[in-house]
Amino acid sequence: MNLVNLMDPQQQVSFTEAVKIGLGRNQGVFFPQNLAQIEDVNALLAMPFQARSSRILQHLIGDELPSDTLDAMVKSAFNFPAPLVEVESGTYCLELFHGPTLAFKDFGGRFMSECISLFNQGERVTILTATSGDTGAAVAHAFYGKENVDVVILYPKGKISLAQQKLFTTLGENIHCFAVDGSFDDCQALVKQAFLDDEVKSQLGLNSANSINISRLLAQVCYYFEAFAQLTDSQRKQVHVSVPSGNFGNVCAAMIAAAIGLPIKKLSATTNQNDTVPRYIETGNWSPNATLESLSNAMDVSKPNNWPRVESMLNGRSFSKDDFYSCSVSESRTQEVMKKINQLGYIAEPHTAIAYEGLRLNQAENETGIFLATAHPAKFKESVEGVLEQQLEMPEVLATALAKPCLAESMSADYEGLKKRLFEKLVS
Ligand SMILES: *Cc1c(COP(=O)(O)O)cnc(C)c1O
Repeated sequence: MNLVNLMDPQQQVSFTEAVKIGLGRNQGVFFPQNLAQIEDVNALLAMPFQARSSRILQHLIGDELPSDTLDAMVKSAFNFPAPLVEVESGTYCLELFHGPTLAFKDFGGRFMSECISLFNQGERVTILTATSGDTGAAVAHAFYGKENVDVVILYPKGKISLAQQKLFTTLGENIHCFAVDGSFDDCQALVKQAFLDDEVKSQLGLNSANSINISRLLAQVCYYFEAFAQLTDSQRKQVHVSVPSGNFGNVCAAMIAAAIGLPIKKLSATTNQNDTVPRYIETGNWSPNATLESLSNAMDVSKPNNWPRVESMLNGRSFSKDDFYSCSVSESRTQEVMKKINQLGYIAEPHTAIAYEGLRLNQAENETGIFLATAHPAKFKESVEGVLEQQLEMPEVLATALAKPCLAESMSADYEGLKKRLFEKLVS
């Protein structure tokens, strides 16, 4: 697989290098140079989930990974299902929250962990990442207890749900957590600074785990095929997929799926009140505002890292601009929609409700609608229970995590302080 840096086309790397580097020169993201079509998509859709996913990843990555190695990686990464549930006639929810940390980030986090373990054989590596809520838990669980790997997670103190936080701050061992006095953007700035610090980079063997890492995106391509596999032949012809979007990685994966032959007719990438992309599409001006705190906190992003990838696919006509929609949904509308879905007999947390609304805003007749449930409702217990005025049952993993003490240390958003703590903890 050949990938090119979208900010600096001179820089071209293999899949292995792209996974290890994460971000390219000039803060550019890597993107596959060619996306060839898969010949017989129907035959692929007839295969079981893991075998099919391995085939898709082999198609994308090429001969850099032997197929039996990839089979084993997929088997251990994707060891949970992605069911398609009918919520209304012709409208389906793709439930991506059946992994160990109850959000879709498990797919990418777990596959990335398999890749890093393979590529860094024996070498010490430190995964340093900032989380807006769900990446932290997915990455922490994926790397928990792995030899030669330490994970450092920075999160904005008090700005993520208790369930989100407890899923990673209670693990201990090789998982180190810092509650930062500041916003997600402050956390991300600290991470970026660490990556510019050669001393830290070399001593700790830094790698990042955010959605700029290509291994996470490729993993996510697989569940779009899994959604179509659960539809009938005739339903597959007019499919509208709605993706709740923050950093725009998930919708980018949907476009890659379409580019290699999955017949997605239409895509909606719907945001919360952090509406940089919808405004950009309407006006042509890229003008991020200050990030606003929302019920759907995992999408509180005003400078989406993956937008250059999405835009390059739209401009390269891998996906038609006429079939790509991006709207924003307000906080009050999010709550109304959560209630509306509840009346249909389904419980959606705020991100999922935004996906449902995106479908409704842009849906034409005779389309089959698929909206993505990116997190389990219990992960947003406080807001779901508050809006729906009913008690949720807690899945066991969550009940267990909630009962444990938080092991995170507090710190101010100060780079020198972070550096000192990292050396104390990780360099002996
Ligand atoms: C991360 C996340 C999103 C946003 O996905 P992007 O790939 O960043 O657009 C949506 N919903 C949930 C629950 C998330 O954790």
